[in-house]
Amino acid sequence: MNNFLSSKIEFLKGVGAARAELLQKEFDIFTFNDLLFHFPYRHVDRSKIYKIAEIADENVYVQLKGAISKFKTIGIGKAQRLITELKDESGTIELIWFQGAKWIKESIKPGKEYLVFGKPSEFNKSYNIVHPTIDETIDAQGKLYLHIMPFYNASEKAKKRGLDTKAIMRLSNALINDSRFFIEENLPESLLKEYKLLNRNDALKQIHFPTNKQKLNEAEQRLKFEELFFTQLRLLKYKMKRHTIFNGIKIEKIGELFNVFYKDKLPFELTSAQKRVLKEIRVDMKSGKQMNRLLQGDVGSGKTVVALMSILMALDNNYQACMMAPTEILAKQHYNTVLKLINDLPIRVALLTGNTKKKDRNEILKLLQSGEIHILIGTHALIENDVEFQNLGIAIIDEQHRFGVEQRSKLWSKNKFAPHVLVMTATPIPRTLAMTLYGDLDTSVIDELPKGRKPIQTIHKYDSNRLAINGFIRDQISKGRQIYVVYPLIEESETMSYKNLNDGYDNICIEFPAPKYFVSMVHGKMKANEKEDSMKLFVKGSTNILVATTVIEVGVDVPNASVMIIESAEKFGLSQLHQLRGRVGRGADQSYCVLMTDFKLSSDARLRIKTMCNSNDGFEISEVDLKLRGPGELEGTIQSGILNMRIADITKDQQILAIARVAAQNILNNDPELKNAENGVLNNYLLNFQKGKKWGSIS
Ligand code: ADP
Ligand code: MG
Repeated sequence: MNNFLSSKIEFLKGVGAARAELLQKEFDIFTFNDLLFHFPYRHVDRSKIYKIAEIADENVYVQLKGAISKFKTIGIGKAQRLITELKDESGTIELIWFQGAKWIKESIKPGKEYLVFGKPSEFNKSYNIVHPTIDETIDAQGKLYLHIMPFYNASEKAKKRGLDTKAIMRLSNALINDSRFFIEENLPESLLKEYKLLNRNDALKQIHFPTNKQKLNEAEQRLKFEELFFTQLRLLKYKMKRHTIFNGIKIEKIGELFNVFYKDKLPFELTSAQKRVLKEIRVDMKSGKQMNRLLQGDVGSGKTVVALMSILMALDNNYQACMMAPTEILAKQHYNTVLKLINDLPIRVALLTGNTKKKDRNEILKLLQSGEIHILIGTHALIENDVEFQNLGIAIIDEQHRFGVEQRSKLWSKNKFAPHVLVMTATPIPRTLAMTLYGDLDTSVIDELPKGRKPIQTIHKYDSNRLAINGFIRDQISKGRQIYVVYPLIEESETMSYKNLNDGYDNICIEFPAPKYFVSMVHGKMKANEKEDSMKLFVKGSTNILVATTVIEVGVDVPNASVMIIESAEKFGLSQLHQLRGRVGRGADQSYCVLMTDFKLSSDARLRIKTMCNSNDGFEISEVDLKLRGPGELEGTIQSGILNMRIADITKDQQILAIARVAAQNILNNDPELKNAENGVLNNYLLNFQKGKKWGSIS
């Protein structure tokens, strides 16, 4: 950043001490540069002035110029309004205000010429404009309105103190038109040429005050590219660095444990997708480089067994392994699954969570260091400092996108040599999000479900259909199946949520009375042992119906359960619905998911429900989810500063992202250290970038 741009904002013409404070507090604007990067959120084309006689349409913005006649107040009560007429050489049009009459009368002088901007509406065969924007024809600081005009976000507090979008516009204008204004290019010439990008100086001017629509578009493209490109360059550079710095542990031989497991213990044939992914992992692990791989696969695609077989590869080479899960329930489930799968193989597995008793914990830590524990499974408790392995060979993170880059890196600093790392997502995440959140990882995808699974049928029912649903449940139970009934837990109204859950439970108990039926319940407020007992009853098949909150979202694997009823389904997000639905459809029977909703649904909720009914494909669903919620809202991504973009939006700018990633990769392939003269700009910018506070939180 040059000296001019790093100047304190109070020294900008028109700012001063009081405004500077407001700019800092409300917008985080401390320097000229910060103001420059406070981009408009939209533009309105006011470059043309229309004649009143040219108006031929309702609801299209027009800008007029003319003199305003005397104000009149007509009507009474709610219908009272202020009206006046605007006149130019072609005709007249009525202007109307229902509110703010006092202010309008005080600030606008009849007889004087003004710019009037608004949407005409037609009434009695003539046009009028309600609540138009009125501006002086010549603004004190230039004809700023006769442009494609920028609109800036302004807080209520700032507006009250005169710092509204127009005031910010004037400041941006003063900045950009200062004779000292200049901003260095940060992309190499060759990139600008190859991707036909506007240069940085012009792009930043045009993003505020575009000459025309095309230029605005070019400026947006350039700035989005820049933002996505540097994110990718950093991630890929980080990935490369890790490859060169960290010598990976060589997991060379395929040994006894793996082979015996594969031949004798594996209860099913692996899908070809699972085989392919295992090969990818195998190649990584024997390469001598550290593996950092993201394993994506839909719910039920069989990620766990792939994880376990990767672990066995490490164990066969005398290394230890660990597996970290986001919740206690999930950690326990992995623990039990692994115990069951390895059966009588000579492997010692331990479980470590926040609830492990101190005595047991100490014992585990000791056995870990002596190498007697081979596989450690647990929660966050695994990354605490005193957890030391003798020789950790592979770390599996089953993460349901909840762990950040920092936490991951903590795991790989647990050894002299960085262990291989396999990150598994609970439900698929969209490609663009994966590229950004996990851009430093290689990716494997299990894109195939185990054979014999029947696609789950999903149906939408209103609460008024409850009788029919109960009949359906009875029918399924008579066929020997088990049923989940899930209630949303809404944090803001926890008491209400529990009331709904308890009422639901009571109703079910009435509809399905003992001794013919047995119902159990699990929710977060129960004691751990109660929860477990209740869960066990369902897993064993002793209860027919399990009424639960989303604690079962990840975790239970009961192949005999064939119906998932989701109450108030409109209150769940898409990925959560998909994850919940994934609890059924695990056995050979036809499974069903019933989405119960209120009659009134928002359009977003309607789309979520429709998407669920139409698709079983987690990748497809995740794309819709991303579009509906935006990247920042997706679970677990909020704290990740990497998605704090100024202008790019990974839901909309997928194409630019893909191009930017290729561009970054090409540059690093040819010049890994960015030492070529031409790439000097990149290096400089990256160095500054790393210092910037917004980015300090990543890697
Ligand atoms: P997820 O990918 O959601 O973690 P899991 O690993 O829990 O899926 O696997 C879901 C279920 O499918 C488990 O009961 C598991 O034993 C079973 N499974 C995994 N792979 C296969 C396969 N190739 N054939 C049949 N069943 C499989
Ligand atoms: Mg899983």
